Amino acid sequence: MKAIRLYDKEDIRIEDIPKPEIGNHEVLLRVKSAFVCGTDVRMYKNGKSGISPDNPRVMGHELAGVIEKTGSEVTHYKAGDRVSVAPNYGCGVCDFCVSGNSQLCSESEAIGISVDGGFAEYVRIPEPAVRQGNLMVLPENVSFEAGALAEPFSCVYNAYEKIGIYPGDRVLVIGAGPIGIMHAKIAVLAGAGQVYMNDLNTGRLEQAKERVPQIETLVTDDLPGEIDKITGGKGLDLVITAASVPVIQEMAFSLVGMNGRVMFFGGLPHGKSVVQLDTNEIHYKQLLISGTTRQSLRQYRKIIHLLSEGVLSADDIVTGHADGSEAESVLQAVIRGEGLKTSIRF
Ligand SMILES: [Zn+2]
Ligand SMILES: [Zn+2]
Repeated sequence: MKAIRLYDKEDIRIEDIPKPEIGNHEVLLRVKSAFVCGTDVRMYKNGKSGISPDNPRVMGHELAGVIEKTGSEVTHYKAGDRVSVAPNYGCGVCDFCVSGNSQLCSESEAIGISVDGGFAEYVRIPEPAVRQGNLMVLPENVSFEAGALAEPFSCVYNAYEKIGIYPGDRVLVIGAGPIGIMHAKIAVLAGAGQVYMNDLNTGRLEQAKERVPQIETLVTDDLPGEIDKITGGKGLDLVITAASVPVIQEMAFSLVGMNGRVMFFGGLPHGKSVVQLDTNEIHYKQLLISGTTRQSLRQYRKIIHLLSEGVLSADDIVTGHADGSEAESVLQAVIRGEGLKTSIRF
């Protein structure tokens, strides 16, 4: 089968490799849609421990497809099922796993990161992922693309649950990429009074506004001054950073008002995550600060439910389709911030 494997930093290759063999408790999936995300970009730019020319890895952790074959002992799933794949699975036994947060398990693995993933014709779903319910059967009205985008969408939902968005909140999302748009969609859904969005790339802001008409886009060189003006000096209720830029994190505390909240969503580039923060702003403004990573299976299923109910949409975030052979150029386009999400399929 065809697959895209990462060998080392900036070394990905399209290859013909054997179709995966599955065990009795495993599932073989024919991939129908897979997307590149920021994590893939970091793996591509910096390499990843455990991945080397001797041990290349099929990338791709945002994926959906059709079950081709199930092992003889697999129950609950059958060939032909349309499924989305939550990539993170844990040991199943530790306190985090038992609490439903297998993504926080110290032994957690991730399809497309620590085991072979979805930038291939077929992917093997390992036994713990099959047993723990990482395969989500898609309702008929949820496309493969939307199913695959349930991965980043549920990461965003995790952030929403952690930091909260309340009726009437004034929310600012910094970063108008696909993740920023997902945050805006959920903020609108949660009843925010006003959702502002800022990005240096005005084209991206326009794309966001087309998809979430309720947002107000802010084009400014002086974000603190602009926020001060529109909130009458009160500051925002919530700032969500959806851009991996240290200076944005440094600025965030000054944009929120009393009892404000800040969500550091995007991780910062390796070596740049030490930033200067005025902690007196946390103290004197009683701020609540959080970050989140990945998602629980419950949150993943919640997003699929919301997509199926028509409460959230993801198909409008797909701006292109590409053959697997074009994956490296898709990666480069993500790095340049072009388009939103391109669905890859062999
Ligand atoms: Zn991702
Ligand atoms: Zn565990």
